[in-house]
Amino acid sequence: MNTLMGQPHNGRFGEFGGRFVPESLFRACEEVESFFEKFWADDDFVEEYRQILSEYAGRPTPLTHAKRLSSQLGVEVFLKREDLTHTGSHKINNVIGQALLTVKMGKSRIIAETGAGQHGVATATAAALFGLECKVYMGEVDVKRQALNVFRMQLLGAEVIPVSSGSKTLKDAVNEAMRAWVSELDTTHYCIGSVMGPHPYPYMVREFQRVIGEEASDQFRSQHGGSPDFVLACVGGGSNAAGTFAGFVDSTAKLIGVEPEGGAAIGKGAPGVVHGMRSNLLQDEFGQVEEAKSISAGLDYPGVGPEHSYLASIGRASYRAVSDDEVLEAVVMLSRLEGIVPALEPAHAVAYLAREAGKEIPKGSKVVLTMSGRGDKDAEVVASMIGARLGER
Ligand SMILES: *Cc1c(COP(=O)(O)O)cnc(C)c1O
Repeated sequence: MNTLMGQPHNGRFGEFGGRFVPESLFRACEEVESFFEKFWADDDFVEEYRQILSEYAGRPTPLTHAKRLSSQLGVEVFLKREDLTHTGSHKINNVIGQALLTVKMGKSRIIAETGAGQHGVATATAAALFGLECKVYMGEVDVKRQALNVFRMQLLGAEVIPVSSGSKTLKDAVNEAMRAWVSELDTTHYCIGSVMGPHPYPYMVREFQRVIGEEASDQFRSQHGGSPDFVLACVGGGSNAAGTFAGFVDSTAKLIGVEPEGGAAIGKGAPGVVHGMRSNLLQDEFGQVEEAKSISAGLDYPGVGPEHSYLASIGRASYRAVSDDEVLEAVVMLSRLEGIVPALEPAHAVAYLAREAGKEIPKGSKVVLTMSGRGDKDAEVVASMIGARLGER
């Protein structure tokens, strides 16, 4: 039996998850699983991980009562401030966990895939901190689009490897990183960036992100008492949402993940197998994976973590979608009401809340919303979309 958001049984979350990979990769995943199980049960490892999160990454992050937003919307909003961590997003929680595990496994190199470059930069950061060699696989198209992040990774000492297969974007970078991993297994750990991929990754990454939800739930209880009515987070691969939900899954709070309309793997996708897991994904009539389209680079992944497919299938969490236009409005609203410029990804959750306050989210509700990252990285995109109009307001 699965406990909800506990350890998956045989790597499965209901009918989702699993480990759909060739033999050689299967053994690699088994090795990661056994090391992770060993160290995650080891108090010294957990203590060291928490210590680094606090001394280096800036945890615990605050839970901020967004007062002006609350009075505008008629609901009480509490923001879990992952935007205030080192490097400015929740991704640091996962990469520190996996980099520390790499060291404990006796390996000296770490590889990662990246789409827009955010997970690549986070991995390069953790690699520098632990003195690990780092290679980041990135689609050729993305390398061109995200020149600044390519430079950031190089500045941090990582090597960026352009991937020219397929559509030359994130899904191809994942395939290439998996291929490279098998040939360098003795020295190398593959650091996946979200709650996706073959078992144990969806489970392990959620455990490394669980700190978000556990802190938020403790903070909410001590500051306000009880549980919130709603817990909201944006969903790309689903790691900040999974980490957040893990802290509230046993409470009465309603859990809502917010996807982009053009990348709603749960809302519009169907079950299938990609990147070693069975989950919901965007696919055409032949089952070929379709590209996701979103204004936010961090959410345009065609699949979603299998645990979210499972939580949706049993009705414990719901998933909703918002449009790019609603997201841009939300960026402006949060910036002007709270002095917090959100990344485009968490602005999806804000957009849903703004649209549904007084409807799906009744007036007076208490809402915890994970602010997964800060908006500096998106200033150029936002400026190109609405910059001219903003000057007039
Ligand atoms: C990468 C990223 C996301 C999306 O990833 P998840 O695994 O769905 O959390 C969301 N927000 C920010 C700020 C990101 O950088």
